[in-house]
Formats: sequence, C-alpha cells, structure tokens
Amino acid sequence: MPVQILNTLTRSLEEIVPRVGEGRSLSLYTCGPTVYAHAHIGNFRAYVFEDLLQRHLRERGFAVRRVMNLTDVDDKTIRGAVASGIQLGDYTHPFKKAFFEDAETLRLLPAEAYPAATDPEQIARMIAMIGTLMERGHAYQAEDRSVYFRIASFPGYGKLARVDLEGQRPGQRVASDEYEKEAVADFALWKAWVPEDGSVGWESPWGKGRPGWHIECSAMATGLLGETIDIHCGGVDNIFPHHEAEIAQCECAGHGAGPFVRYWMHCAHLMVEGSKMAKSAGNFFTLRDLLQKGWTGREVRYALITTHYRGSLNFTFEGLAASRTALGRLDAWRERLIESAGSEPIAEAPGDATEVFFEALDDDLNISGALAVLFETLRESNRRMDEGMLTPAQAKGMLLWLARVDGVLALEPDIASALPAEVEGLVSARAAARTAKEWKKSDEIRDQIAALGWTVKDTKDGQKVTKS
Ligand code: AMP
Ligand code: ZN
Repeated sequence: MPVQILNTLTRSLEEIVPRVGEGRSLSLYTCGPTVYAHAHIGNFRAYVFEDLLQRHLRERGFAVRRVMNLTDVDDKTIRGAVASGIQLGDYTHPFKKAFFEDAETLRLLPAEAYPAATDPEQIARMIAMIGTLMERGHAYQAEDRSVYFRIASFPGYGKLARVDLEGQRPGQRVASDEYEKEAVADFALWKAWVPEDGSVGWESPWGKGRPGWHIECSAMATGLLGETIDIHCGGVDNIFPHHEAEIAQCECAGHGAGPFVRYWMHCAHLMVEGSKMAKSAGNFFTLRDLLQKGWTGREVRYALITTHYRGSLNFTFEGLAASRTALGRLDAWRERLIESAGSEPIAEAPGDATEVFFEALDDDLNISGALAVLFETLRESNRRMDEGMLTPAQAKGMLLWLARVDGVLALEPDIASALPAEVEGLVSARAAARTAKEWKKSDEIRDQIAALGWTVKDTKDGQKVTKS
C-alpha cells in the first residue's frame, strides 16, 4: 500500500512518491526550536509527529534525509540575551544543549544536520539569497534601512494559507516575524540594526543588521537539501506567515525548476484547557517539569503520539496516567511473549492482520487504527497464552513483529542498563544472597528495591526487574 498524507498545500490526500532519479530517497525539513527557553511539550508534539513520520517512512523502505534548524537569532533570543546582559551565543547555548537532551529522552531519531541560523556559512547564504531577491525586484530596502520582501511581486503569495491579498496595499510593511493573516504585508528579510539589538549584528550590502526568521529557514533548507524539498513539516501556527514566506523567498530566488516543497504537513496544537500551549501564554510544561514530577520520557512520548497529528490534543495528567497504564500492559505482554518464546530458534510469522498496523499508518499516519491493531493483537495472543495455545514459534514471531512496531513507535521499555545504579547494586547483592541461600536477606533486599519503585521477580533466567 502506498504511503499517503494530507498535503496542506492542496488540502488533499496524496501518495508520497520520490522524485524521478532519486530512488527511494526523500528529503525532509522540519522547523526546529527557537532556543530562547526550554522547548515545551507542545513543541515536542510537533517533533514527535515528525519522528513518527520519519520512522514510518523508514519502515516502508524510504531513505529519509532530515534537516532541522535551530533558530538562535530572532526577536525573542535577542531580547533574552540583552535582558540577561550576556552574549547571544552564551544565552542560547544551554537551551540548545537541553533541546538535544530532551529529544533523546523522547527517543527522537537524530536529524542528519541541525544548522544554526548564526553559523557564518548560513548567514552568508541568507545574505546571498536576499541579494538575489533584490536583483530580481522581489525585495527593496525601506526608509528604516531594513530590507523587505515585496509580496505583490509574487503571484503565488498566499497559496499555502489561502490568504486573500485583497485589501493589502503595496508597500505596507511588517517588521515583526509573527503576525496574523489579517495583517498581510511585505515582511522583513533583513532587519537593520537598532540599539536594542546590543552586540548582535552582521555586516551586509544593506548595512549592519540581522536576518528575519523566515529567510533563515529558506536559506538553511535549500542550502542543505537543495532547491526542491520533498516534505516540509511544522505546527499549524507555522503555515502563516512563516511557511508562506518561505515559499515566496525560495521560489523567487531559485531557478524555477520546481516547487520549493512537494508535500507540506502540519500538526495541530497541543492544547491546555482550550488554549494553545505556548510560552507566551504561560500555560506550558517543559519535559523537565514532567520528569521532575516522576513521569518518564516514554510516557510523555506515548501521550503525544497516540492522537492523530491533525487532531487537537488536550494535555492532562489523566492522559499521562492512561499512557502509563497502556505501556504497563504492553510491557507485561512483551514479558509474557519472551517467556513463552524461550530459546525457540524458529519464528512463525503472525497473520496478515498484524500488517494492518503498518497499513493504517500508510493512511496519513492513522495512529488510532494502528494502535487498535496492536491492542487487539495483545488481547488475542494473551488469550491464547492463557489457554496454552500459543506455541513458542508463534510467540517468537510475535516478538519479531513487535520489534518492527518498536521501530516505528519507539515505545519499548527502557533497557535494563537504565536501572538506577542504586537499584543495580541491590540486584547484584540480592543475587549473591540467593546463591548463598540467605533467603531472609534476599527478601529484605527485594523490599529495599520495591521502596525505590522497582519490582523484582525471580524467573528461570534469573531476576527480572521492572518499574513498579
Ligand atoms: P517555536 O520554537 O515556537 O518556533 O516552535 C517550534 C515548533 O513547535 C514549530 O513547528 C511550532 O509550530 C510547534 N509548536 C509550537 N507550539 C505548539 C503547540 N502548542 N502544539 C504543537 N506544536 C507547537
Ligand atoms: Zn522554519
């Protein structure tokens, strides 16, 4: 079955097909974090959706080249650095580092490259791109010394967000990176230096200044992935003006060989009590907040991944608790399958019904359909294990299927080495006590392990430790 997705540009389901001559290779650009604070889990909803997409495409045999940018210079990062009285790079550095740690905790596959907007090579590309737009009459320098994109020069402006240009007066300008559709206007490509920018600024043919947010993504995306990119993702808030501006810049500065992007995909917002989770609204949780409250990265990933990416998802602690329960069921099932399979060398492939898991994801990442197959398979095979009807070869086949599912969902239990050192030490001490047949001591250590939140079970293969 082909992989189909809803293309925001055409508002219709389209099969993902690589470009002619590209084999099974696809390029994917995903707008990354603005590193002026810790990313919140709303941001991570977008990144987890993109990760699911990338993993499913990989399962379907595509080689995905993904680039994610880091926005490390914009209005917000500069404001933060100036308020803290430190250099921009020193201000953004810890947030970049934290982002990579969080991404790992949420099991996001790494991108091939994470270009940062302030890389000298990227700044040079942005300046070159603005130069081309100037030469071709798509950009002009205004009295405020900033350079703006002339939207009236690009008939395709508005095609992604379906913006009506009626009412827009040529020459109307907007300097800020974010604005509403109603305020459609020429947007800034290069922002002339002002005293509030402090030490932030680069020399350019138009004087000292800094790039606008939109040109950053356009230059980094085309610089690393070429003039036409297969898939470009982000949250719905990116559609306008950010992605609309990216199209305008790239299609006007390019060679006209093709569109800037072939498939646009956008995820809906993570909400909190009816409003978008946003730093500016102050209604956000970072991953760190949740880890501190005792939730795991795997549980947060589950909570973010299990609602269809285009459906609005409300963040609640009940939702996280439900994730914990669901993962507990999956873990217990997996343990049972491992025990049933024993050391059986032969694996019997599970029936076609299990393929429906991947076919559901082919259908615009229909995660509810896929999870329905997963839990139905769990129920059915548990029932057969209860009746002693599942052979070791069938259990082994089921485990191999589960490994494929893990490749896409990445919800497998944390590996045993992730046991806290203290628990690991107690487990070894308990093994020694059992070898010495010191049963009372062994039981005491089991209680100590339980007090730390872990359950130890004795199996024929030794002690098995799981999170309580
Ligand atoms: P930002 O750091 O604000 O540029 O956002 C980074 C990414 O997170 C973008 O793709 C946004 O569209 C996305 N995003 C921001 N807030 C949310 C939210 N509440 N739910 C889902 N995605 C979001
Ligand atoms: Zn972007």
